[in-house]
Parts: sequence; C-alpha cells; structure tokens
Amino acid sequence: MHNKTITELSKALREREFSSVELTQSYLDRIKKHNALNSFITINEEMALEGAKVADTILANTNTNLLTGIPIAQKDIFCTQGVKTSCGSKMLDNFISPYNATVVENFNNAGAVMLGKLNMDEFAMGSSNETSFYGSVQNPWNTNCVPGGSSGGSASAVAARLTPAATGTDTGGSIRQPASFCGITGLKPTYGRVSRYGMIAFASSLDQAGPMTRSAEDAALLLQTMSGFDTKDSTSLDIPVPSYSASLNNNLEGLKIGLPKEFFSEGLNNDVAQTIESAINEYRKMGAEIKEVSLPHMKLSIPVYYIIAPAECSANLSRFDGVRFGYRCSEPKDLNDLYIRSRGEAFGDEVKRRILMGTYALSAGYYDAYYIKAQKVRRLISEDFKQAFAEVDVLMGPVSPSPTFGLGEKTADPIEMYLADIYTIAVNLAGLPAISIPAGFADEKPVGLQIISNYFTESHLLNIAHKFQQTTHWHQLSPKGFE
Ligand code: GLN
Repeated sequence: MHNKTITELSKALREREFSSVELTQSYLDRIKKHNALNSFITINEEMALEGAKVADTILANTNTNLLTGIPIAQKDIFCTQGVKTSCGSKMLDNFISPYNATVVENFNNAGAVMLGKLNMDEFAMGSSNETSFYGSVQNPWNTNCVPGGSSGGSASAVAARLTPAATGTDTGGSIRQPASFCGITGLKPTYGRVSRYGMIAFASSLDQAGPMTRSAEDAALLLQTMSGFDTKDSTSLDIPVPSYSASLNNNLEGLKIGLPKEFFSEGLNNDVAQTIESAINEYRKMGAEIKEVSLPHMKLSIPVYYIIAPAECSANLSRFDGVRFGYRCSEPKDLNDLYIRSRGEAFGDEVKRRILMGTYALSAGYYDAYYIKAQKVRRLISEDFKQAFAEVDVLMGPVSPSPTFGLGEKTADPIEMYLADIYTIAVNLAGLPAISIPAGFADEKPVGLQIISNYFTESHLLNIAHKFQQTTHWHQLSPKGFE
C-alpha cells in the first residue's frame, strides 16, 4: 500500500481494495516501526482511526474528492484543534490549539485523515531540523545525516513512506531544501496563494505553506486543497485557483529555461552540479531552449533575509510571554521576572539569537540603517527576477550547494548553516513559486532540481515537474530499509 501514489490509493479506496481504516492503520504501524527517525512529534492514532471510519462511510456513497480517506500528516506549525501544536518548541509543548488552521480545515473538508504532527526546527528557524525541542530527525537515505529543515519531519516521513504526503512551510527554503535532501517533491507556492491563518508565524512577509509529496502529480492534488482566498488572512489573494491536475501533461516544446549564472558559481558541489546539468539535459531532449541569465543582486539575499526575517520574528514571537498560553516559569517574583524567565527557559538558542538580531535591527537609530535598507535591496532582488522572466519562462538550478550533511556537523557554526540557503532565499524575498524535484544522487545522497516560475504559475511548475517524472525514475526510488 505504502508505495502507491495518492491517485492510486484513492482509486483503490473507491474500488474497495482496502478501506481507509485499513490504510490508516498500516501507516500508523509503519510510523511506530520507524520511530527512530523521530519524524513525528505527535501520533494521532485514535483521532486518525475515527476520521478514517467517517471517510469510509463517505466513500460508500458517491463522493468525488480524491483526498477522502487519504492519510496525511501536518507540520507541527499548523494549529490543529484538540491536538498539541508545539511548533517544535518547549514554549508550546503544553499547547492544545482551540482551533484549526485554514490549511487543516481544508484537508478536513476534503475528508483527508490526519496521522499526526511532524517534527520541525523550533519555530521553523533552521536548515537541519536540529533546533527542535523534540530532538533531531534522521534522513532515511542515510540515518547519520540530517533531513534538512525546517520541514525536516515532513520530508523524512514522506521519504520513508510513513505518510503518503505532508504539509510544509517555506520562509527561506524550508520546503524545497528538505525535499531536496530527502529525495521528494516539495512546492513553495506564490506568497498569498495558501492561507497563513493558524500557521504559527515566523516571518509573516515570507512564510508560505505548501505540499511535500513523492510526485508532482500528488503535489497538484494537495495544492488544490490547500489553495484559495481566505478572509482570515489579510495577505491572502483573491485569485481563482486553476485545476492543477488538468495541465500536468502539457507539451514542453519551446519552453524557455533560464540558468542564472549565480546558481552555478563557486561553492557549488561538483557532483550536485553534474546532477543538475543532466536534469537540464532531459528538458533539452523534450524541446526546451536553454539560456544563461543573471540575477545580479541574489548574492545579497542572505544578508537581507537575516535582517527582515529576524525583525519580523522578534515582533511575532513577542506574544509568547508566559501570560496567555504556552510555557510559564514557576513562581515568578513579578511581571518582569515572569516574562524574562518564561522566555529565557522556553526558547532555544537559535530562536533567541534571531529575536536579539531582530530587536536590534528594529531599534531606534538602526531601523533606517538596517531594516529600511534591507527592504530596498529586497525590491532590487524582485526586479532581477522580473527582468529574467521577461526573457525566459522558468529558471532552473540547484536547491542547495551540497547534499545532506552529517547530524551535528554544522551546528557549531550558524553562519555556515545560513550561507547554505543561498539558492532558496531570494525566491521568498520576491514571493515567487518554486519546486524541488528529485534529480539524482551525489555521493549516494539525493539531489533536488529547483524550478522557479512567475507569480501564480504553479500549474506550469507542476506541469514541468510532472513531465520530468514521466521520463525519469528518481522520484520512485525508496531508501534502503523503507521499501
Ligand atoms: N533555513 C532558513 C532559516 O533558518 C529558512 C527556514 C524556513 O524556511 N522556515 O531561517
């Protein structure tokens, strides 16, 4: 069962090959069997089986939603009513959400079954899932290596077939990079496509939720359910949602692909570069035209991000004060002591580092020098993409300069960890959609190809990804021991 795509599972459910209860139980068994991966923070056994039972009764009647009865898992950044929502932090270890995020509500309405909540970097801050209060997650392709971050639990669980699909969020690469490290498909939609309501905020102008699946075809199904205008999110855009599955097979003859030269410069691992080149060759065979382009300001994306993201996070995380919800220190002397000790005891080092950086960048006297300046450079970065898309339809390149690395290998040097996000962050600063698809291996570790397209052209991205997956087998491979 667990090697089937969502489309196949959905067909099997409809044809009574097995029930949603049986399917859900088989995934729950796998999750328990591969507990050592640590990809789940909460396993939702009872509620999942109850949901599956309901789905089975719906499936017995006429029903057209392909996700009915399909198990999925949510990154623990999404509020789930009645279920612990920790965001990977000690701060929210005791938090049971009283409401559902819109994304979660959309999956519920479709009849999907929630298996549980997935491990992640604390408040989505990290690139290796090692900042989680619940411990690091293993990469099923090499259990001594990181799954990437911050959606590390999502990527590890999908790659190990512990769930047919998962949700992730991407503020600076957190869907694409773990998807690349774990050999799965991960799509970051256009900013405003998927509601952020009930998705715990890290950097509000960058955060965007998206699907993490084994194939582009499955990603189309999930994105269909996740997308749409939401009056509860003021940055949600009222633009019609197309049928993402309808255009998957469109011909790619004459597609203009741009290769930003900045994506292939020094610092890129040789084996990764070769893998990306042969992936691009596949597109050449399909009739695409390849052209070099330039994103001259891309090199500034990391410094800009490390002003804007911490600035926004310092404001967003001010709500965790030990008063209304979350962790509260024991026997505070007075209000200040309550604030200081609650936050001091419950936030991890990376979160504290970002709050400090952000508070500094926003303080009087530095606001203009850092925050305003960063916003101006952010505009220049968006303009680079605009110019590139005047010449070509999509951009292609690597997701990360190297494949997955050893657990603990980079934790001592946060700057080194930050620099590895060089190919993903500019996309968030511009608010563009991008996907990572399995493109091969470097040193027996999965490598993802990144495809970036213009605003609200997710259908095109999925089409381009699907065509690749029709002629290559990378997305079908499973890690040893998880077949
Ligand atoms: N790795 C980046 C960071 O640490 C991006 C994280 C994300 O996209 N949530 O902030």
